[in-house]
Amino acid sequence: MGSAEIIDGKAFASQVRADVGKKAAVLKEKYGLIPGLAVVLVGNDPASEVYVKNKGRSTLEAGMQSFEYKMDSEVSQEEVLARVENLNIDDRVNGILVQLPLPNQVDADAVIASINPEKDVDGFHINNVGLLNTGQDALIPCTPLGCLLMLKNYYGDLSGKNAVVLGRSNIVGKPMGSLLLRENCTVTIVHSRTIDLPNQCRQADILIAAVGKPEMVKSDWVKPGAVVIDVGINRIERDGKSRLVGDVDFTSVSEVAGAITPVPGGVGPMTIACLLKNTLTAACRQAGISEPE
Ligand code: NDP
Repeated sequence: MGSAEIIDGKAFASQVRADVGKKAAVLKEKYGLIPGLAVVLVGNDPASEVYVKNKGRSTLEAGMQSFEYKMDSEVSQEEVLARVENLNIDDRVNGILVQLPLPNQVDADAVIASINPEKDVDGFHINNVGLLNTGQDALIPCTPLGCLLMLKNYYGDLSGKNAVVLGRSNIVGKPMGSLLLRENCTVTIVHSRTIDLPNQCRQADILIAAVGKPEMVKSDWVKPGAVVIDVGINRIERDGKSRLVGDVDFTSVSEVAGAITPVPGGVGPMTIACLLKNTLTAACRQAGISEPE
């Protein structure tokens, strides 16, 4: 089959971010509206700190306002809920993101439920989940939205494709399945109890891997010519060095697949770009105006 086309998520994400930036400039000029994104970070998990810093920088680069709220790892659930409530009623804030994971004493479901669904730019609130699953206008979780944009950019019309989603989390797998169904794919979601995972994956024209297991998907799991989107971000030690790998064995699978996203430089940058896109969408909806073309 030869070598797969590498889908450059980094380059595509910078196009998406530039498009958001242009639209944000129009909103400012026409309506004096500057979309604002608030990120709440609880504790000092190093990976979360890096994500939050990148989100803040990208938000400012797109010409939007960024607000960051750091809370101590010992904070109580009531304090987190009170912070979210303040952001719910703050007119400068159009999008609220509470960085997960949260410490054990804070119930993530309760925190997500407390976010005003119109400001829920992560798309995790049950209202947005319901809207997505009933084909209505929702704020869509950023990672699956980023995967979908890359797929549509590569394929165009996805109608009739066999899509297999590996993983069924609320953050990635399930919304990914819903989005692909909405695009008229035939969708199979597989998980840890699935029988004969490799054979299920081999049926896919589109394979999305979101399991959190380093390099689990091997070349004989992939149909020749399939498009493989690797959501996984796993830190491993190799040859005495720490490095990031996906859920797909990139070297062997890229010999079989038609196209593949790398890790890093694939889905990750698209996630942040889609967060900015969602913030702009949320700001327009809250102001009752159409998104600029
Ligand atoms: P979760 O741990 O929430 O879900 C993992 C899913 O994979 C579960 O549905 C689980 O099945 C399934 N799974 C785990 N082990 C196996 C196995 N051996 N065989 C089959 N299925 C298995 O992870 P997330 O969805 O949150 O994240 C998945 C990966 O994506 C992680 O590497 C994460 O870091 C990455 N990620 C990347 C993002 C990005 O921006 N690029 C954003 C979000 C996540 P079951 O339900 O049966 O337990």
